[in-house]
Amino acid sequence: MSASHPLWSKRSLTAQAMGHVDPITKAVVPPIHVATTYIRDEDNAYSSGFVYGRPDNATVREAEAVLAMLEEADAGALLFSSGMAAATAVFQALEPGDHVVASKVMYWALRNWLATEATRWGLSVEFVETDDLDALRRAVVPGRTKLVWVETPSNPLWTITDIAAAAEIAHAAGARLAVDSTTASPVHTRPLALGADIVMHAATKILNGHSDVVAGALAGAKADAFWNRVVSIRKMQGAILGPFEAYLLMRGMRTLHLRAAAQARSAMLLAERLGDHPKVARVLYPGLPQHPGHDVAARQMEGGFGYMLSIQLTGGEAAAVRTAARVGLWKRATSLGGVESLIEHRASIEGPGTPCPPDLLRLSTGIEDVNDLFTDLDEAMRAA
Ligand SMILES: *Cc1c(COP(=O)(O)O)cnc(C)c1O
Repeated sequence: MSASHPLWSKRSLTAQAMGHVDPITKAVVPPIHVATTYIRDEDNAYSSGFVYGRPDNATVREAEAVLAMLEEADAGALLFSSGMAAATAVFQALEPGDHVVASKVMYWALRNWLATEATRWGLSVEFVETDDLDALRRAVVPGRTKLVWVETPSNPLWTITDIAAAAEIAHAAGARLAVDSTTASPVHTRPLALGADIVMHAATKILNGHSDVVAGALAGAKADAFWNRVVSIRKMQGAILGPFEAYLLMRGMRTLHLRAAAQARSAMLLAERLGDHPKVARVLYPGLPQHPGHDVAARQMEGGFGYMLSIQLTGGEAAAVRTAARVGLWKRATSLGGVESLIEHRASIEGPGTPCPPDLLRLSTGIEDVNDLFTDLDEAMRAA
């Protein structure tokens, strides 16, 4: 890693993946390291710092260095085989009996895991609307709550939790704050700088950006005992990302700043235009002044409000389902953050118990021409 000119911006460092050049060939793209094992020194030590493939891989570490830089993470970053593997490693580092407070509106699969599996691990999990700081304050039990987990903007309503305030509430009670920052991206929000202890990303989404890698990431503010336990859980449970995926992720991240800015710009334009559409009852996007989280978002997000928005249709659930069936340019699929725009009727995939309204369509804005995106959606809504 030869990159740390103090004046170079994150954008420059990310574009060059920290400026790493292969020392033998001088290649500007580092090779993919696939070895599962490494030669020991004559005295049996491992002076290279690489012992075995499950914890140690140079390609993974190179991508982790980019993430640690982006998130300003003193403890560094860890890549996992998925976003879920990254998130669950944090909860597994807790002790049986620990109390956890988590956002009620959050990534569906994680909420499901917390409500079912995490309780079998002995965790007591309470879901609250973390955008309501009084509700968060009431839910946190000093001495008993060990982790506050927030997702902001939160999927699929894009509610905004005030990270700095949540950190204060968590810390005052002796708990840590972890933030799922997937839909904000490191370009638009810096959770650790705002006081969070751990930031999590589904790197599957905008970090990779090309819908061809499943990956997860954690970055830590401090290499304390809890963080070291997370490191050891990844190592022992073998949840590390594979080298090819790490290479693809690093290739994707080189254009992160361009993509995130363009996608957030298009999301904002779509939110504004869809707000005036006769078939749209409501647009949910934190960039809109009427969004309940707008003021907090304007304070804690930088350079844009992210690539995700939702619309609720005047025609209700049937119109939403028919609209998703009629789009052409938008792709009817789950997931988010790729260069191609995706549309999804969330309530039908989340099932009973979801806080997602049935008339809602979730939109992940890609990099296509924003006029084409609007026209396609406009035609689909009018035909539905
Ligand atoms: C996709 C996603 C996850 C889970 O990531 P996977 O890579 O699919 O396991 C977690 N949180 C959010 C906000 C996500 O969008």
